[in-house]
Amino acid sequence: MSIAICPGSFDPITLGHLNIIRRTSRIFDEVIVLVMVNSNKSTPMFSIDERLSMVQRAVERYPNVTVNHVDGLLAEYAKKLPNAVLVKGLRAASDFDYEFQMNLINKKINPELETMFLTSSEKYTFLSSSVVREMARYGGDLTGLVPSELIDEIEEKAKAWREHNG
Ligand code: ADP
Repeated sequence: MSIAICPGSFDPITLGHLNIIRRTSRIFDEVIVLVMVNSNKSTPMFSIDERLSMVQRAVERYPNVTVNHVDGLLAEYAKKLPNAVLVKGLRAASDFDYEFQMNLINKKINPELETMFLTSSEKYTFLSSSVVREMARYGGDLTGLVPSELIDEIEEKAKAWREHNG
């Protein structure tokens, strides 16, 4: 059975992530969307439980996709699933540089682990979680950026952030 791991911070999940997850689910028998607890990015907007619950709701429609989380190194987690392949999305040259470096580090920790890349769909090339967070914080319309069923929750969080930060 072929297994893919789609890792990320998903802070929050966007339609760009979902596009990669959906396409991966057509290629592999099973897909694990892995929410990274401690990514090297700045303080997350959403807690790990909120991110997990949003990802769960967004992937509910795909029968071969499950959601998990890990607090630690991705390459160590993958040792428990010897046949699994990492699948990541590539948007631009900047993603490539970062991913190339990550892959070298992962290979040092877990030489068996392979990474495959899917190029971003054209309409999501400029979409990232940080764009969504900025848009939400300044009251922008999130339609077409995140799964529609999550818009209310993201807007609520952004409203609380605005009230707290003035
Ligand atoms: P972000 O870069 O949006 O903060 P993550 O760290 O959660 O997101 O990224 C997880 C994975 O999803 C990475 O492989 C990243 O390249 C990919 N990804 C994120 N947004 C997109 C997108 N719009 N199109 C394709 N891949 C994407």
